[in-house]
This record gives sequence, structure tokens and C-alpha cells, in this order.
Amino acid sequence: MVGEKAFPVKIGLEIHGYLNTDEKLFCMCKTDFLDSENNSNVCPICTGQPGNKPMAPNSAAIEKLIQIALVLKSKINEKPLVWQRKHYNWADLPKGYQTTISGAHAVPCATGGKFKGINITEAHLEEDPAQWNPDSGKINYNRSGLPLVEIVTEPEFSDSEQVVEWLKALVLSLSYIKAVRKNAGIKVDVNVSTYGERVEMKNLNSLEKIRKAIDYEIARQIEAHDNGEVQKRETLAFDEKLGKTIKMRSKEGAADYRFIPDPDLPVIKIDKKVVAKIKANLPEMPEEKLGKLLKKFSVGEKDAKILTRNLELVEFFEKLSEFGIDPQKYISWITIELLRVLNYNKMTLEDEDVEILPEHLAELIKAVSKNEITVLKGKQIMNEFIPKSFSLKEHKGEISNIDDVAIENLCKQVISENVHVVDEYKGGKDASLNFLIGQVMRLSERRADFKVAGETLKRLIK
Ligand SMILES: [Zn+2]
Repeated sequence: MVGEKAFPVKIGLEIHGYLNTDEKLFCMCKTDFLDSENNSNVCPICTGQPGNKPMAPNSAAIEKLIQIALVLKSKINEKPLVWQRKHYNWADLPKGYQTTISGAHAVPCATGGKFKGINITEAHLEEDPAQWNPDSGKINYNRSGLPLVEIVTEPEFSDSEQVVEWLKALVLSLSYIKAVRKNAGIKVDVNVSTYGERVEMKNLNSLEKIRKAIDYEIARQIEAHDNGEVQKRETLAFDEKLGKTIKMRSKEGAADYRFIPDPDLPVIKIDKKVVAKIKANLPEMPEEKLGKLLKKFSVGEKDAKILTRNLELVEFFEKLSEFGIDPQKYISWITIELLRVLNYNKMTLEDEDVEILPEHLAELIKAVSKNEITVLKGKQIMNEFIPKSFSLKEHKGEISNIDDVAIENLCKQVISENVHVVDEYKGGKDASLNFLIGQVMRLSERRADFKVAGETLKRLIK
């Protein structure tokens, strides 16, 4: 029955992303939790030790939150924002409460807004709990106190495909403002309702998991409905190995968290002028970049889409265009060659140890288009541009095309060393010529002109 839409599927999301700040929300510990040893970025504040109070909230986190709200076209609240203590008793929460701007008495940081056709309910800021490993019983406090953004949507999605595409677009837009930590991923709580009350699935941390969980849960709810069951409001966990949702706990009401305003933290008032300033400095979003590539640079749609999928890549292209080369002619050097070498080395332009300068690639493209070096040599040099590119100036002697006399000498050598293949070619096997040309290219270290090599071989063999 799925797909016939005889039932009203409603899906809503709560998306948690790690804000891209250097320091935690209420202390000065570093936020890099992916590459750090367990419990190396901790202090008495973020480990909840008695007698310690939070520092004033990290203003960089608030700034990032405003940027996100602006991208979502949300309204930033002018009322004072009050930090709340959300109490629960769990191993990952040393203070016994999580500090958040949400909950029973809270005014959300931003409300309303729309992103790609889906209405936004609210966006707010909170701290991450620590990471508890139920198998070892150990706790890693590196994550404790990291600033998180929570974005809540209206339940307006109707299937998993729509959710996944929307989340991809959201993550891309947030990457353009560098508001959310890349690689740290997002955690999404998904609520799904069909015939009965909504069911929430917590902490889905990959698009694939989200897709599977939604598909499974819709089918499960329909089947339960057909069996006469009435769906109550509940929270389920999606078990990826089993491929199904399992009972977690019945959903707490807000009262269970005993929200109280945090007496240790000042009320925040977001200044209109600050918002206006941040708005004026927002960078171009993916759609604007795409439009610019299509119109200003006349890049084909397929290439333009490849470029805009990655901010560093599209910015690299824009910088490259400042070096006086025709964008349409050189586009494949980025969308094919540059991506090829990066993917091969499992690297990206934003990796710290990767340093490829647009002026060096511009030099390379110019040398190829002026026929100073062969396309094959150019591609080989691209391989050597990882992790660090270089100017070709000092290498001219080693990379420039060899002249026709040198090519003829190499052709003679290849012919004498491959008598058998030459005979095959003479016998009508055209593909054998390609093998011979390949040998010339190899001996010349890719510095022989491909066409000249082919013509010379033909002339000599006749
Ligand atoms: Zn700390």
C-alpha cells in the first residue's frame, strides 16, 4: 500500500548539528573531538565538578546560530533568551542537567522560516552531553559542552526520499556559511505519523539510516493499523542490524525534565544591529553560486552542479577564472582531473595538508593549451600536485614537449624493439599502432605529441 497515499504520512525532523566554533559553549576547552584522545579537551566546568560555574556563553556559537537562522529565513527573537536547565539522570550528564535554550519556559532563538519548501518551527542552541559507551562503561567528556544547534521542522515531509534530499540541501547550505562542523555529521530525530499519534526515532546519524528507519516505520504503522492497533505517542530506536524500530521508552512530557531557568547564566538579548551586520556579510548560497556559474561563466549545468556541491571547489574555480583562461575550456581540469587526483588520494581541498594553488593549475592549463606540454604530461603533473602544487617554471626542461626529431628517434627505437607488433599492424591490426604510440609516450615520459608520434610511426612503418 505504500506509495498509494491513501493515508496521511507526516514526517517532521529535529536536526542537531555541531556548531563550528573553536571553544565549547561555557568553557574554553577545544571543540575538536574527532581527532582528540578521550578526555583530553576537558576542564572542571565541562565535567560538571562541584563548585564550578559556567563561563558566559560563547559568542561565536550565538553568531553561528544567527547565521543559520538567517539561511533558514527564520525570525530571530528580540525577546530575552533564557538558558534552561533540562534535568535528567544519565551517565552522559555530569551536572544532572543539560543547558539549553528550549523547553517549557523558553523562548526559542529563532522561529518560523522556510527552507526548500518546508516550514521551520524553531532553531535554538544547547550543549551536547558527554559520550557514554555502554559496552565499556567509560565516558568521554570531550563532547560535553559542545555547542549544538537544533533545528525543528514542521511535520511536512511525506516520504523518506524527500527527507534525504532536503537534508542534503540543508547540510550543503550550512557548509557554505561554515556554521556546522564538517565530518562531525548531524544527528536527527525523526517523527513519523500515519494513522495514529506520532512516533519519534532518536539519534539517526546517517542519511541511509534515516531513509531505512522512515521506510520501515511507515510500513510498520500501516500494518499495525490494518491489524486494528491504535498507535500511541512513543519513542523508538532504529536498530540498523535488525533493520527495524524497537521500543525505547514512552515519550516523556516536558514536565519530566523539570525545566528551570539557569541562575548561573545571563539572559541573552540579540541586538538587531548585530543581526543586520551578520546578514550583510552572509556569503553566497549554493543557488546563487549555481546561477553565477551558468550565467557569468557559461559553465554547463552538469559541471556547475558538480562545482556547487562543494564550497571549496566552486571557490577554487572562481579564483582560477581570475588568471585569464576561458572557463569553458578548462572546466574539465577541475571537475574531472582535480577531483580524480583528490579522490584517488582520499583527500579534499579543505584538508589541512592539501595546498593546491589556483595559479599553479592556471599555469599548467596554459602550458597545455599553448602546446608546450602534452595533455598526458599535464595529467601526470596533476598527480604530483597532491598534496602541494608547484610552479612549472623551474621544471620546464623536464616537462616540455620534445621536438619532432626526438620523436622520430624514439619511434625508430620502438619499431626495432617491437618487430612482432609492427608485423601485426602491417597485417591489418590497427589497434597495434596504439600500443606502439603508447611505447613512444612511455619512453618520452609523456613528452611526445601523441598525434606526431602516430604519424611518424605510420610513415616509418610503410
Ligand atoms: Zn571545559
